[in-house]
Amino acid sequence: MAIEALYVHVPYCQAKCRYCDFDSVACRSKEELDEYTAGMSACIEAFARRGDLVACLTAYLGGGTPTLLGERLPGLVEKIRDAAPSLRELTCEANPESLTRELAYALCDAGATRISLGVQAFDDTELSELGRIHTSARAHAAIEAARDAGLDVSIDLMCGIPLQTTESWGATLDEAVASGVGHISVYPLTVEEGTPFDRMCAAGELDEPDEDFQAWCMDEARRALVSAGYHPYEVASYARPGKECQHNVAYWTGVSYLGLGRSAASMLDRETYDGLRDLLGLDKVPGEVRRVRISQKTDALPFGQGAGPAYDCELLTEREAAAEDLMLGMRMTRGVPADLIDRARAVVGADAVDAALARAVSEGLALWVEQDARFCPTERGWLMGNELFGIMWDLACP
Ligand code: SF4
Repeated sequence: MAIEALYVHVPYCQAKCRYCDFDSVACRSKEELDEYTAGMSACIEAFARRGDLVACLTAYLGGGTPTLLGERLPGLVEKIRDAAPSLRELTCEANPESLTRELAYALCDAGATRISLGVQAFDDTELSELGRIHTSARAHAAIEAARDAGLDVSIDLMCGIPLQTTESWGATLDEAVASGVGHISVYPLTVEEGTPFDRMCAAGELDEPDEDFQAWCMDEARRALVSAGYHPYEVASYARPGKECQHNVAYWTGVSYLGLGRSAASMLDRETYDGLRDLLGLDKVPGEVRRVRISQKTDALPFGQGAGPAYDCELLTEREAAAEDLMLGMRMTRGVPADLIDRARAVVGADAVDAALARAVSEGLALWVEQDARFCPTERGWLMGNELFGIMWDLACP
């Protein structure tokens, strides 16, 4: 196998939002952005010279706020395009305050196909509660600019925001649909350790999000978005036909992907890992390892000067990889094909796999869709994802 998806992390934001525990820092200077862009461009060029990205089909520039790189960003997009000639989808994550009309057009010209905008809500009071620095009007302007430029647009929405109501959530969903975007992701707010929201909760200044309200919001999102023609192809993701995020689908279908930048994650099959091991400064792994999950811990990049990056690695056997593929496949409405289940039966044992599938069916979490020869989550399985994922992941243990 070869690298089929590339993730590039841009660890800068204009300001930190109050709920955010992503790996990003408020940007300190233009020089810092120049240096980051030059280093990442050189790293991607070096991978291109080795031919490591020729089979790469999707790329995602995430963060942080990639659009904070401003006029530097189209150049980085071009580098990725040159390095990965088979690319079918290239997404830039963006925040409304830094996606100008000029930048949207320049990104499209450079070869980006898709923008993923952190909108969160179309309500200025809620945005302010989150510590977001954009307004609803700015979000609409950014969506319009990206669509006019010819980019596919995805927006993120969040439920359980302080001061959010059933009415305001309904209005946010209505505005999202009316904006004409092809893809919408919906997430419940979580209070993460070490964030300003965490400290506010501890001080009694903020209530934890109401889980019942969030469950209602998720249900309401599904109802409103499905009736508006969006397909719920993943637990948190809705798309108009043909607008699914292929990069995210790659994460859930067991293909090798490479992440560059601090905190970026990679997942490499054994052959790809062995091919990159010396370059990345990684250790030899035992013979039974079939898949390696890697998380970059430091800022340094491969091919850079001085010490290379440091990584955390998780080693998976063939059995664990087979269980993981079934578990990840259950995130998607389309589930997993029969041949993936046959592979799991060969690796794990037919009795154990059949018993796990039977349990998922008997608990109403999944079912066989005979005409497609696929095993798929039910609506109950979608709502109780952790139970369904647990049944599949238990197959990893003998
Ligand atoms: S814009 Fe996104 S990555 Fe940046 S601080 Fe806010 S939530 Fe975090």
